[in-house]
Amino acid sequence: MVLGSGELGKEVVIELQRLGIETIAVDRYAGAPAMAVAHRCHVLSMLDGPALRQVIAEERPALVIPEVEAIATDTLAALEAEGITRVVPNPRAVQLTMDREGIRRLAAETLGLATSPYVFADSEDEVRAAVSEVGLPCVIKPVMSSSGHGQSVIRRTEDIAAAWQEAVTGGRAATTGATRVIVEGFVDFDCEITLLTVRHRDGVTFCPPIGHVQVDGDYRESWQPQPLPEGVWERACAIADEVTGALGGWGLFGVELFIRGDEVIFSEVSPRPHDTGLVTLASQDLSEFALHVRACLGFPVPGITSLGPSASCAVIAEGQGVPRYDQVDVALAEPTVQLRIFGKPTVDGHRRVAVAVARGNDIDEARRRARTAAQALTVTVEPVR
Ligand code: AMP
Repeated sequence: MVLGSGELGKEVVIELQRLGIETIAVDRYAGAPAMAVAHRCHVLSMLDGPALRQVIAEERPALVIPEVEAIATDTLAALEAEGITRVVPNPRAVQLTMDREGIRRLAAETLGLATSPYVFADSEDEVRAAVSEVGLPCVIKPVMSSSGHGQSVIRRTEDIAAAWQEAVTGGRAATTGATRVIVEGFVDFDCEITLLTVRHRDGVTFCPPIGHVQVDGDYRESWQPQPLPEGVWERACAIADEVTGALGGWGLFGVELFIRGDEVIFSEVSPRPHDTGLVTLASQDLSEFALHVRACLGFPVPGITSLGPSASCAVIAEGQGVPRYDQVDVALAEPTVQLRIFGKPTVDGHRRVAVAVARGNDIDEARRRARTAAQALTVTVEPVR
């Protein structure tokens, strides 16, 4: 059972299907991308503990694979303790990473890893105190949010009120009533990387570093391999090993790191495939989705073959209604390009709907090809009739 049926969940279900596994896709809306490729699906709020318990107790899946962070993780932990199912990579890892607080405290306070300075806050007054403690500029984020929702950079104290409003309306607070935020010192990094780390039955395997560009906290482009200063790769792997080892279990983890000079600063980790890792659909013989499935099923990962410099570029739709795709032929005419159109039934606001991936002789060529294809694909959002 895959909890979260977006584009990443869809690729995980496809990889499970390749091994002949019966799959069940779950999300809070009907027609989510992974539901189109799973054997069965259920529509429910995964933050609703009793509803989640009921569907898992009825289906009795051998494995529950969380694909989003917003899940009633205490319910998952209880169901595993009762022997009803098994949670990937394990219930504690899913609980600790369900919001930014658990993982930040583990990394910075328990493991002593370098992170941005941070303070948690629950009101506008507490945010003001937090900003004076961490200093300007800083970043404010709801503790439970993704894709940049509710996130903003505060450059002047005058920005605080608007940033607080954005955080409490833009995260998952609107549905859960939670208003806790993290205020983080702004890290003026040279580059940021995702280090995909696979913990499997025979040990730990790292994918080459993925560089990426984010706009307003949302991923737009990624590429692999990202060149790094001497010695940084080894330190990044040591940090990724330490943090994923502390979470434990088998599966693929997306470890997000900021690189400043030869410093490696821990940012976040997801115990599941990462959106910037979509590039691995082009760059590796085993994509991050294939690796996650192999690892969590307890199968071997004897090695990963890199297929050359590669890049991904996200396609974003804006508006309200049903997305329509034109110029697919133009996008696919670009050499080496592959498209994934996720098949989201509707768009409401700002939504990632497709991705282009490409290879090249170098990163610049791969990025140019992926970007050209993504720009060629025309998405029109038509009102629902
Ligand atoms: P997150 O949701 O925490 O991964 O943040 C999304 C993106 O916002 C990151 O990938 C960075 O590009 C940017 N960002 C987040 N936190 C910071 C920070 N403390 N300093 C600078 N940039 C940040």
